Amino acid sequence: MVAIATRASWGARYADGDKTLTGLAAEVFVHHTVSTQLPATATVDQERAQVRAVEQTGQNRFGTGISYNVLIFPSGRAYQGVSWNRRGTHTGGRNSTSRSICFVGNYETNQPTAAQLATAAAIYDEGRGKWWKITAPLRGHCDVSVTACPGKNVFSRLPEIRAGNPGGTPAPAPAPSGLKVDGFWGSATSTRLQQVLGTPADGVVSHQTAAWRSQNPGLTTGWDWTGKAGDGGSQMIAEHQRRLKARGRYAGAIDGKAGPQYFRGLQADLGTPVDGTISEQSRMVMALQRRLNAGTV
Ligand SMILES: [Zn+2]
Repeated sequence: MVAIATRASWGARYADGDKTLTGLAAEVFVHHTVSTQLPATATVDQERAQVRAVEQTGQNRFGTGISYNVLIFPSGRAYQGVSWNRRGTHTGGRNSTSRSICFVGNYETNQPTAAQLATAAAIYDEGRGKWWKITAPLRGHCDVSVTACPGKNVFSRLPEIRAGNPGGTPAPAPAPSGLKVDGFWGSATSTRLQQVLGTPADGVVSHQTAAWRSQNPGLTTGWDWTGKAGDGGSQMIAEHQRRLKARGRYAGAIDGKAGPQYFRGLQADLGTPVDGTISEQSRMVMALQRRLNAGTV
């Protein structure tokens, strides 16, 4: 659980938003304050004073106290702004249906710190099913308004925050490949998927569930059907489930098992018919192979 300093700790003086919200938020928006840039070495007292300054700005502009739900400093410390169940004033037209994560400072001109990105990723992850729906996407303010917010240097890091590994070494972009687009998912397709996902590239999909074999004739070589419950499945499938979950396509367990729920998520992600099974010469597999040839997943 991320430690988030309470409103009382920094000395909130104004209203806690303007309304109580019920239910989980549908979206999460990332902002920046464009206020004074504190260094990562700032003291807690300096940060508290800055949160009060941000509160004063919100109060002056909207009369509802501090605008954002949580504020994150370069130190990586987080402070509660508007309570999670109260409405803030951060994203025009969506304040009732979203929550906000705010980077304190100006990220059009400054870079976010690794600690700040790690805190944001941890909060986004912790909030799933708690403050927002498990499928709630993380978006930049600029995705829905004409604004530079949250600044290009934070906006470009949103994929890492979504994926939960900010600052993690991204897998080097794989060289273009000549994977055959044939709609059969065998070891060549798995090897390529492993390269793109950054998992060990051996072309084997370990520990899969034998009961699913017969309904998926499009899965050919390299599929290991000796799986047992709780054996962790395939690292490749688990990483792919994480990516799909971060994009709101998959709500199941990260269990490494390529079952109907995973295939439905993948089909939805690829825009092919969603039936949860892989036929021979599968359209979904062809779309996946094309995407892999372009070096993405
Ligand atoms: Zn904003």
